[in-house]
Amino acid sequence: MQDSHGRTIDYIRISITDRCNLRCLYCMPEKGIELCRHDDVLRYEEFVRLCRIFAKLGMKKVKITGGEALVRKDAINLMKTIKNIDGIEQVTLTTNGILLGDYLDELVQIGIDGINISLDSLDTEEFKRITRVGDVEKVKASLYKALQYSNLKLKINCVPFDGENQKLLDLVGLAKDNPLHVRFIEIMPIGEGKNFKFMQEDTIKALIEEKYGALTPCTEKLGNGPSHYFSLQGFQGKIGFISAISHKFCHECNRIRLTCTGYLKICLQYEIGVDLRKLIRQGASDSMLEAAIMQAVMKKPLEHSFLQKDIAFEEQAKMASIGG
Ligand code: SAM
Ligand code: SF4
Repeated sequence: MQDSHGRTIDYIRISITDRCNLRCLYCMPEKGIELCRHDDVLRYEEFVRLCRIFAKLGMKKVKITGGEALVRKDAINLMKTIKNIDGIEQVTLTTNGILLGDYLDELVQIGIDGINISLDSLDTEEFKRITRVGDVEKVKASLYKALQYSNLKLKINCVPFDGENQKLLDLVGLAKDNPLHVRFIEIMPIGEGKNFKFMQEDTIKALIEEKYGALTPCTEKLGNGPSHYFSLQGFQGKIGFISAISHKFCHECNRIRLTCTGYLKICLQYEIGVDLRKLIRQGASDSMLEAAIMQAVMKKPLEHSFLQKDIAFEEQAKMASIGG
């Protein structure tokens, strides 16, 4: 599928629930977000039906996200079903890692193509402060269990935020000692994220180079997304940056998003898209859904304008229902 700016769209992120077992400062308010009604969240058969249509339209890669996807019952079965759809080449998962250890064997059995663990600190107190309720030991246990599967592609995603003395360098050290990539994601002004400033990529790079030596840009393309990577001498994994604001990558955006309530979002920043749940539940045929999806994709904006104030149609939804 191509949008009106000639970009190939072949990657979809699907949030399967807005429920989460953590309360990260930049994602959820302390009391949690106002959750979607159960009936408003897509049923698994609705996700699967849409995935078949997405695959037919050229979507090759699916990222399962949330909220925390692993808190939804039978999430692994859903991933297995999506993996078996003709045309879907990769199904990957983004998780906070708390429950990951319990589901790893099943995830490996279904042939999960990669797991991203969101982890903002390895320090017990700092992790608790950022997530409000999380026990980092559970995430570490999941991570070390995952590392025992030598073929599993693992990435650590960290969202640094300015003004905090976040212990980022310990996270960088994970890529030294283990075959995994560590990526730093610029915080985006969506939902609770609006209350925080992002930390400049260059600031993080300077901190890393002071401790670990020169970062060398990688020329090979790694992964499906917008991350650009660097190598460090003696490291098994790479260090990546996803800097949506300071290093805009909209010109190569290949993705759309399906929220847990079945709204197809075509740009992270804007509400523009189409309510596929409404169409499904009104009895739309597959070809009507296909047409609605293609029409929405043609409206994909050329770029975000996060730094611009007072823009029309700015996204009001929370990151947990969008899925990051
Ligand atoms: N609960 C899962 C997790 O944390 O990986 C999946 C959902 S979470 C919304 C997906 C990703 O979005 C996480 O890596 C999280 O750190 C990131 N995220 C949440 N709010 C963000 C924001 N305002 N800006 C940038 N990334 C954000
Ligand atoms: Fe939950 Fe992920 Fe949001 Fe943290 S970032 S509150 S783990 S959905």
